[in-house]
Amino acid sequence: MKKLLVLLAIVAFVLAMPFIGNKSINVENPHQLDADGNFIMYDWNFDNYKEGTRVGTNEEWDYNLKPVQVSDRVWCFFGAMEMPTKENAGDMSNSCYIKGDDSWIAWDSGPSYIFAKQAHAAMRKIADMPVKTVIVSHEHDDHWLGNNYYKETQGATIYGPKSINVNYLGYDEHTGKPNENTREIPPQTRMIRALYQNAIRGTKLAAVDKSFEDTTKFTLHGVNMEYVKVGYAHSEEDWFLYLPDDKVVLVADVVMNGRVTSNRDGIVIGQLNALKAIQARDWDHLVPGHGFVTDKTADDECVQYFTLLKDRVLEGIEEEIDPDYITKYVTLEEFRNKELYYLLSPGNVFRSYEELEMYDGDDEEDEEDEEDEE
Ligand SMILES: [Zn+2]
Repeated sequence: MKKLLVLLAIVAFVLAMPFIGNKSINVENPHQLDADGNFIMYDWNFDNYKEGTRVGTNEEWDYNLKPVQVSDRVWCFFGAMEMPTKENAGDMSNSCYIKGDDSWIAWDSGPSYIFAKQAHAAMRKIADMPVKTVIVSHEHDDHWLGNNYYKETQGATIYGPKSINVNYLGYDEHTGKPNENTREIPPQTRMIRALYQNAIRGTKLAAVDKSFEDTTKFTLHGVNMEYVKVGYAHSEEDWFLYLPDDKVVLVADVVMNGRVTSNRDGIVIGQLNALKAIQARDWDHLVPGHGFVTDKTADDECVQYFTLLKDRVLEGIEEEIDPDYITKYVTLEEFRNKELYYLLSPGNVFRSYEELEMYDGDDEEDEEDEEDEE
């Protein structure tokens, strides 16, 4: 009897062998596993990009966009106070629509083709007009990946910083036109890596059509505007849009509120100059790149943050604080309760330390060593 039990146990063990310790299954195309077709487009190559073969057939991501009216002619979509994730599908920055005579003007186009398409559909319910012009603030991909929707379906002209064409598409730095270094397939940006295909499909990196060297005033579709260059501030090349008749200023990421800013590509001195340029205009409403406050206090937090950041980091340099210790020495306590404080503030301090050490030093030629950020 005992022998039989042992034998049965052995048989049972042998039968169970293939399953023991085998908790994962091996599939050749793991990105095709999801029954909803919600794979992430890791295979960003020529065929997928040009032919759109990796697009899936499932329903489009629903961004559930609700425009908020900021002034007579301006409506905005406010994104989540988060980093871009699959769950928010990149809807974590603010973008706006300005009502012209014969066309909407889009200020920043959001994180994807589908976002732009759904934003336009929502705005058509307010006034059924095309979007003939898109104006872009800066090169971060939560602000302009909707451009190709407007270009392809509306024939829109894209106004924006040259840095988009140079840094993403590999255009010539001086002419702003394609050259022999121009990329056949643009790089897979942060959004393209993070989003499910049913949110990012259809998105292509569209070139900027029209760039300016300096601050320029123009009238588009009956709306007077000033497109203000603030240069290297939050990114390598930042611009904001001032609507003097509306007393509205659309400033994108040189101002954020309710959360800590990301200065990973920026410089604190440039940021403070940008804030001065904004304060030099007469406005009642300011729309930040991230955050929900749009009244006259909209830039207060940012002014305070960068002023404290600069003063305290300079103080740290004065005190000869070791770089390893600077993020402990400068903590910006006042912002502890703001979103993304723990994630972003130490990085901002460290980056400012690197910047201000050179700024403060007596050898100015050090600045030439500064590398271009992408
Ligand atoms: Zn940005």
